[in-house]
Amino acid sequence: MSSSMVRALFTALVAPAGPALPPVVSRSPLVLFHVDSGGCEACGLEVEALKTGGYGLAEAGVEFSASPRLADMLLVTGGCSRMMAPVIRAAWEAMPRPKGLIAVGACARDGGLFPQNYATLGGLENHASVDLFVPGCPPTPSEILGAVIAVTARARSGSTRDTAA
Ligand code: SF4
Repeated sequence: MSSSMVRALFTALVAPAGPALPPVVSRSPLVLFHVDSGGCEACGLEVEALKTGGYGLAEAGVEFSASPRLADMLLVTGGCSRMMAPVIRAAWEAMPRPKGLIAVGACARDGGLFPQNYATLGGLENHASVDLFVPGCPPTPSEILGAVIAVTARARSGSTRDTAA
């Protein structure tokens, strides 16, 4: 049985019900690199579910890379601990241009339950130019994928920036 048949069978049997998401049409695949920067980790787990759970990631023309050098967008979860801040910046600097930054969840936006203190920067909001904030605590995998597709469409309309804040 071919891999596409296996995927189709898997989708038919176990794919979660939910709104159909429009496909990414002109650039395939769109590659994401994920950094979990510290929090309760639920947002990171939702991203992991998106990677593996039959939410239509491949059908939308989106995939994850283990290397930022291959990534188009940096997807950050968690409140940006001071220990992980250099990791976020290193990943960003390793990515080719043009590139985008997505903050997933309340903590990645403004710290959420983990406001700025000696251990955390309190989210990306005041430290980087973020292309899209995905609200939620945590957002669902479908909401995360929908946001990725939305920011991709916006980039195609000409508003993608290509420099870090
Ligand atoms: S936004 Fe909520 S679910 Fe996500 S890391 Fe923060 S506390 Fe956890």
